[in-house]
Amino acid sequence: MSTIIKREEQFCAHNYHPLPVVLVKGEGPLVWDENGREYIDMMSAYSAVSHGHRHPKIVKALEEQLSRLAIVSRSYYSDTLANFLQYACELLGYDKGLPMNTGAEAVETALKLARKWGYKVKKVPADKAEIIACRNNFHGRTIAIVGMSTEEQYRDGFGPFPAGFNIVPYGDIDALEKAITPNTVAFIVEPIQGEAGIMIPPAGYLKKCAELCKRHNVLLIADEIQTGLGRTGKRLACDHEGVSPDILVLGKALGGGVLPISLVLADNTIMSVLHPGDHGSTFGGYALAAAVGLAALKTLEEEKLAERAVVLGERLMKGLKTISHPAIRDIRGKGLMIGIEIDPKIIHGHDLAEKFLQHGILTKETHHVVIRLAPPLVISEELIDRAIEITKKVFSEVQ
Ligand SMILES: *Cc1c(COP(=O)(O)O)cnc(C)c1O
Repeated sequence: MSTIIKREEQFCAHNYHPLPVVLVKGEGPLVWDENGREYIDMMSAYSAVSHGHRHPKIVKALEEQLSRLAIVSRSYYSDTLANFLQYACELLGYDKGLPMNTGAEAVETALKLARKWGYKVKKVPADKAEIIACRNNFHGRTIAIVGMSTEEQYRDGFGPFPAGFNIVPYGDIDALEKAITPNTVAFIVEPIQGEAGIMIPPAGYLKKCAELCKRHNVLLIADEIQTGLGRTGKRLACDHEGVSPDILVLGKALGGGVLPISLVLADNTIMSVLHPGDHGSTFGGYALAAAVGLAALKTLEEEKLAERAVVLGERLMKGLKTISHPAIRDIRGKGLMIGIEIDPKIIHGHDLAEKFLQHGILTKETHHVVIRLAPPLVISEELIDRAIEITKKVFSEVQ
């Protein structure tokens, strides 16, 4: 075993179970390990690397900003934050953005914003606000967020959890309608459930959710941390159904593959409930992040990465569907967010991910049964074809 792996195992908390590879370099859709071996990154750090590793435009923005100013805190204005937020708001159709760093922080921000809107605008009685979330959701790892989780492992040992969260089955519009009460302030949903195993709701679900929420004066919060910014073949996954959520949460790819950057977007009627001191983050919207976030959004548009995800996603899906193997139960996805569901009685997801690794593909299983194929959106046709060939070879070795 590599001594690096040994030392990481010794000094790093065991809250992950990494595959046995030590990565030392990345470029575009490729990464290399400590022995110089090349891999196709079909994992993209859960979509954080949608632009590919070290995209030249993003590295340039980072370096230019780093040579001037990195962090001042929101106690002052910086000359980059307005540029970033104006671009984001105009591109995505919102009045204001609230910058944070990680996805979980942005989700927490959205929940706080919705609650405060509930009390100040909807006039829900004090401490009675309810937020509805979906079964098998993944919105991050804070205590409030795992309090909304239905995944036993994410909750076990971390209670007690805040009150005021209700769960409905994902994709079930009637259940949502039944769960709404006069105190419901928001419904939070992922357009496609990524961590649950690339679960796609019935067509029209989001649109119906939006109509229902509007009818009951409930805010629709779309967590597009993983599905957003081109991943599913549209700028936002909500765009597939022409839905504009009341609160939009972005993260992962917004950092251009180089920094953690997240953002909550909403109109003034909602965002104006927050006043100085109500909420904050030391690093949220720091000058360097603003410069990188702007470059990440501009690059997405200039290089038409969402359109690429459509074409390359279709190519990948078509290639994968030619593979027939008893271990494969389903292949599903949208754009370049694709999951292969396997029969864990034939092969365990972690073992399959190790086989992919041996053949030069980085991927990871979720819930032991779904292997995710979600490469950087800048990947080439040739590499997609190579990934398909490798996948065939991997399954040919599964007995
Ligand atoms: C990754 C993810 C988060 C959490 O983001 P972090 O940056 O890990 O805190 C939240 N929601 C969704 C849908 C995600 O995929």
